[in-house]
Amino acid sequence: MRFLVGVLLALSARAEVKISWNFEGGNLGRVERVAANHWRAHLAGETDQDGRNRQANWYSFQVDATPNQALMIDLVSIPGEYNYSPNRGAVNAETPPVISFDNKTWAHLETFEYDAAEPRMRLKVTPKTKRFWIAHVPPYTNRHLAALRQWAGDRLSEETVGQSVDKRPIVLWTIGNGPRTAWLFFRQHSWETGSSWVGEGLVRHLLSDAGRPLREQITWKIYPMCDPDGVARGGVRFNKFGYDLNRNWDVNGVEKMPEITAQRAAIRVWLAAGRTIDFVLSLHNTETSEYLEGPPDGGGAGKHAALAERLFALLEKETTFAPTRKLFYAASTTTAGMAGRMTVSQGLYKDFGLPAFIMEQRISRQPKIGRRPLVADRLRFGREFAVTIGKVLTP
Ligand SMILES: [Zn+2]
Repeated sequence: MRFLVGVLLALSARAEVKISWNFEGGNLGRVERVAANHWRAHLAGETDQDGRNRQANWYSFQVDATPNQALMIDLVSIPGEYNYSPNRGAVNAETPPVISFDNKTWAHLETFEYDAAEPRMRLKVTPKTKRFWIAHVPPYTNRHLAALRQWAGDRLSEETVGQSVDKRPIVLWTIGNGPRTAWLFFRQHSWETGSSWVGEGLVRHLLSDAGRPLREQITWKIYPMCDPDGVARGGVRFNKFGYDLNRNWDVNGVEKMPEITAQRAAIRVWLAAGRTIDFVLSLHNTETSEYLEGPPDGGGAGKHAALAERLFALLEKETTFAPTRKLFYAASTTTAGMAGRMTVSQGLYKDFGLPAFIMEQRISRQPKIGRRPLVADRLRFGREFAVTIGKVLTP
């Protein structure tokens, strides 16, 4: 009997902590045990098609632990590269993780220590429950999108314009039937879940009673999930073959980047039928900057400048958008002299002359919201964003 009790205790001591990420959007690299309640978790990160531009700012994992026991998890292997310049990584004191005890509601974990020297993000958690979840920002997966689609029912129409590398559908949603047309891209980069939460807020507002004038004035064409593969595997910013889906808009790689090919083809078909596109925007997240980048049409003297200025002024005055820099206009490419370096707005301007914008929203503390944005803030901005686009496109 005494022996049996000893075995059970030993077993339970070993089963104390389990870190796992085998679910949609889950991602982490190697995990090492440092001490009984101290773990070292390497971020997996991803590189592009040439093994460059490593970025390691998506992680999402589940922890099974003993309630009321202090636990320490060090996130390491953070440094990377952006547009070919090395950096210390995007996980730092400005961007602590979010934590959830029900896998549904998320709040920022405030008990962390960031050590810039390694760099290392040390998380300290004493859970009250036996299971919790940690992620860089609140997850939004294909499952969330399917739930939104189901909620919308036949109030929106969905077409499949192509397939991802892994044969997931690239869907295009249409809401409303107004004379003006806005074409929106969400989630070109899989780590940027804030983009999807804003998209959800926008769709919910458009389909509400209050959204009726917006449906009557504008035809909304929405790509709600530009990189379904990356979102499913818990990727960072590249498709399965390593192609950045917000670069490469100047090349045509049907096999290597079918997502871009499909998205652009649907726009070409729309325009070829004699219809117009009055506005294009792709929504993104960054760690600490927030801005609106106008179309690459020559800047303040360009033909889309009035639209750009009105949009920026309204966003700044009437919404929670809190820009860290003034409106500016994109150059014709992100990297001169190199193929595969045009963003969606640069590519659509080159091909069709469209008024195409990029917006970035930060995940760090934001002055208008007064904290690091959470799901409710993104949903709210989605509503504000729909209203603002309505004002910009209708007289
Ligand atoms: Zn992005």
